[in-house]
Amino acid sequence: MKAAVFNGPEKIEVKEWKTPVCSDEEIMIKVEYCAICGTDVRTFFHGHKKVIPPAIIGHEITGEVVEIGRNVETELKIGQKITPVTSIGCGKCNLCRKGFYNLCPDTKALGYFYPGGFAEYMIIPEPAVKQKAYVLLPENVSTLDGSLIEPLSCVINAQNYLKIQNHDNVVIYGGGPIGFMHAVLAGASGAGSVIMIDPAFDRLKRFGSLFDGLILLNPNSENTVERVKELTDNSGADVVITACPAKQAQLEAFSIVAPRGRISFFGGLPKDDSVIPVDTNIIHYYEISVFGAFASNRIDYQQAADLISSRKIDPSKFITQVIPLENIGEGIRLVRSGSVLKIVVKI
Ligand SMILES: [Zn+2]
Ligand SMILES: [Zn+2]
Repeated sequence: MKAAVFNGPEKIEVKEWKTPVCSDEEIMIKVEYCAICGTDVRTFFHGHKKVIPPAIIGHEITGEVVEIGRNVETELKIGQKITPVTSIGCGKCNLCRKGFYNLCPDTKALGYFYPGGFAEYMIIPEPAVKQKAYVLLPENVSTLDGSLIEPLSCVINAQNYLKIQNHDNVVIYGGGPIGFMHAVLAGASGAGSVIMIDPAFDRLKRFGSLFDGLILLNPNSENTVERVKELTDNSGADVVITACPAKQAQLEAFSIVAPRGRISFFGGLPKDDSVIPVDTNIIHYYEISVFGAFASNRIDYQQAADLISSRKIDPSKFITQVIPLENIGEGIRLVRSGSVLKIVVKI
C-alpha cells in the first residue's frame, strides 16, 4: 500500500509500505481522509515520545470498513464508513472501567502508538475493537466532513464541563481551527456573545470573517481586560477558554472571568514551563471553576458526528484545503505557517 512514513523530525516519505494484515480480533479500514492536527505538526518537527519511527501518524481519520475479523463482535458491516476513536485505554484500570480511556495511564493512541491514517489501510487494533472505539458516520456526513469529527470531539469534551447556556459571555484565546470550533460550538449552545483574542490578528480577522457574530480583539493594540469588561457591561466572561499554549492567556483568564465563571485550560503549556501564579482567592470568593480537557472518548465523537449531521457545525468553513497524500510534507508546513485552518489529506 501507499503510506506516508515518518522517519524522524522533518523526515516524512510517501512510499510503498507493507499492507497490514487484519487478524481475527481486528477490523481493517481503507482510509479515505485524514486531517492534519497540530500534534501531527509538532511530531513532524520535534518527534513525539510515543511515536517510534518508522511510523505512520495521523488520527483525524475516516474510512470504509473492508475487513472484520471473524472473532469480532460488532454491528458494523463491510462497506460502512466510520471514524475510529483515537484514545485506546488498557481496558482494565479504574478510568477505563468508567469509560475515560483518554485518561488511562496506559493509553495507547491511534496515529501515535498504533499506525494511523496517513496510509491507504489501517487496522483498528483488538483493544479498540473491544472498546468499540469507532463511530459510524451519519448518512448525510461525507468522509471528507467526517475527518473533523475527531478535533470537534475534543472541543466537545471540554465544553461538556463548561455548560454554556443562553446569554453566557464566552471569551476564547487562540484563533486556530480549535479556537474557531470552540467559538461555533459556544454559539450553537446559545452563548450571548463570543469574543476571540489572538495576537496573530490578521489571521484572526481573515478566518473570523467566515463565521457570524464573533467579536475579535487584538491584544497588541487593545487592553483586552478592559475591552472584555466593556463588552460584557462590566460583568466579565462567564466562560473563558484558552485554546493556545500561552501562559499570558491562562493568567488573563482570572482577570476577566465573571463570578460563577468557568475557565477551561484547553491548550497545554510547554512541559518545562507550565507553572503560573494564581490568586486562588479569585477562585474562592467568586466561585470560579477551572477545568482541564484532554483528547476525547467515543461519546464525544458521537456528539460531534450528530452536530455535523444537523449542520450546527459546517465543516466546509473549517476545511481550507484538501491535498493528496504525496503533498503531506507541504501540508504540514502550511498548517504550521498559520495561513490555513484545517488541511485534510485525501488518501
Ligand atoms: Zn487531533
Ligand atoms: Zn486503563
